[in-house]
Amino acid sequence: MWRANVIHPAGMMAGRKEAAMLEKLNPGIIARAEPAPIGAEAVPDARGINLFRADPMLARLMSLYLPADLVAHLRPHCDRLGALAGERLDDLATTADRNPPRLIHRTRTGEDRQSIEKHPSYREMERLAFGEFGLAALSHREGVFGWPHPLPAAAKYVLTYLFAQAEFGLLCPVSMTDSLTRTLRKFADPALVERFLPRLLSQDLDTLAQGAMFMTEQGAGSDVGATSVRAAAESDGTWRLFGDKWFCSNADADLAMVLARPEGAPAGTKGLSLFLLPRTRGDGAPNAYRILRLKDKLGTRDMASGEIRLEGAEAYLVGEPGAGFRQMTDMINNSRLSNGVRSAGMMRRAVTEALFVAHHRRAFGRRLIELPLMRRQLLKILVPTEQARSMMFTTAEALSRADAGEEGAYALLRILTPLLKFRACRDARRVTGDAMEVRGGAGYIEEWPEPRLVRDSHLGSIWEGTSNIVALDVMRAARREGALAALQRHIAAQMAQSGMDALRDPLARASALTERAMAPEGAHLARSAASALYHVTTASALAFEGAALGETTRLTLAHLVLRHRLLPRDPLAEEDEVERENADLAALLVDPSP
Ligand SMILES: Cc1cc2nc3c(=O)[nH]c(=O)nc-3n(C[C@H](O)[C@H](O)[C@H](O)COP(=O)(O)OP(=O)(O)OC[C@H]3O[C@@H](n4cnc5c(N)ncnc54)[C@H](O)[C@@H]3O)c2cc1C
Repeated sequence: MWRANVIHPAGMMAGRKEAAMLEKLNPGIIARAEPAPIGAEAVPDARGINLFRADPMLARLMSLYLPADLVAHLRPHCDRLGALAGERLDDLATTADRNPPRLIHRTRTGEDRQSIEKHPSYREMERLAFGEFGLAALSHREGVFGWPHPLPAAAKYVLTYLFAQAEFGLLCPVSMTDSLTRTLRKFADPALVERFLPRLLSQDLDTLAQGAMFMTEQGAGSDVGATSVRAAAESDGTWRLFGDKWFCSNADADLAMVLARPEGAPAGTKGLSLFLLPRTRGDGAPNAYRILRLKDKLGTRDMASGEIRLEGAEAYLVGEPGAGFRQMTDMINNSRLSNGVRSAGMMRRAVTEALFVAHHRRAFGRRLIELPLMRRQLLKILVPTEQARSMMFTTAEALSRADAGEEGAYALLRILTPLLKFRACRDARRVTGDAMEVRGGAGYIEEWPEPRLVRDSHLGSIWEGTSNIVALDVMRAARREGALAALQRHIAAQMAQSGMDALRDPLARASALTERAMAPEGAHLARSAASALYHVTTASALAFEGAALGETTRLTLAHLVLRHRLLPRDPLAEEDEVERENADLAALLVDPSP
């Protein structure tokens, strides 16, 4: 009987034919077979791993993008956050995810006063994010972690990157608060800034004011110019807002930036103004708006996103009337950057888990990491993860330079931000999904990290502008703000340092594609062009980092991006030797456990 089963040495049942085939594809698989552990020991669990220590490249990159004294100062904080993210924060996030917020309409004495009940786990995460780690304050004032200056963007995003490895949802309110503060300081009347800034920058949850952005309406999502919420001027200089907002994350925020159309203002984006909406009026009474209901979401289930009806709510004009869209774009760009960083963080978590599983799970008598096909799959999720990380640092640096007024830096930031948001958020969907498969059946079970990563990662490419809209924004930046030329200069300067001349031709081709996609009749090419620019930019950044740090693994990654994403390939061709195995590829796949 050919189908006679054999008891595999690893304890698996396998047909003779199957065993023979596996032996052929993975020579030595039977000979080297060792008994697999049984029961719980057979199921690897990385819980308790320090996610900062598990990823030594993060500290290496910090040393390239941040001054040495600051790196030394931040290390213990990164270490603590890495430990939290690998255990306590992860547990809190899991519990909060299972206990979504509830909208309460009245107090127990029957007073009409809305509130949102949040699980204590979520509250504790708020304390960590806003309080202990000061994530919303650290860019805007000195004193966080005892550092005598505001921290540079790269430091903020390293911490965000670590935090996002355990929790994505809460980082929306964090980023909203940070971005609202930035936009308020940039455009609002100094008296308005002075009034609200101390609470926005507080690390004490009792005094902290959190931020939000209420822009989307039922008839105005991507098409912001269709905004219909109406603003009426009052004689005392304040405004009253009327109408519905359809998606309002951090719905009970103390302060929200709202786009509205003053009465008599023209149609389209030119007629929009930006308003600051406090939850509580100047006289201490609740402001005149209601949360109609909370959304039942696929991911970020612990963070309250609601629908809001403005019923003559008191608000303050921010900046110039009619400049609302431009000013709101500033806030959106900042939160798009944060979104890209969070997607990069979620990919890193997915990869760390997948590497851990691959090193500790056994099948057919071997550890999964020894199986060539598994190694290849791991590399396929590792490459976009590292691309996103390099893009995070590159964009953070451009932000710091732009804020310092360096010539050309703003144009560079203007294109890097949507590139990161567009591509990293999309890649996170695939990377987290493929990483889930590495864990096998357990990966699909809600008590492991992967399901939440998969659910949350899908949101990154929808909110703050869908992929289409963000790819079109890359083209807009290229067309209107000289951003393509700024990117070309940046990459040329990096190539001069890294010596990776092989990127010259792909850069020229990606630029030519972008030129076509920039024209109105080329809109259908926007995503291809944005992807091409992203791959050239990240290959260049990886090579630059590799050269600067003497890290050959980063040069290897740069070449993988070049070969797989930028050069013409025959999908039916056999892979060449270099890709089958080399020491650098092996170094990328090391066990993340201590
Ligand atoms: C959980 C969650 C929380 C959110 N929180 C907030 C918030 O706090 N504040 C806020 O203001 N908004 C928020 N949003 C709204 C979000 O930003 C919008 O849903 C998003 O921008 C898309 O708008 P829309 O839903 O109206 O879709 P639409 O604009 O109707 O888009 C539908 C589809 O059409 C495509 N499309 C539209 N225009 C074009 C074009 N020119 N070319 C090609 N394709 C196009 C889009 O890419 C999309 O695929 C949130 C959304 C979600 C899901």
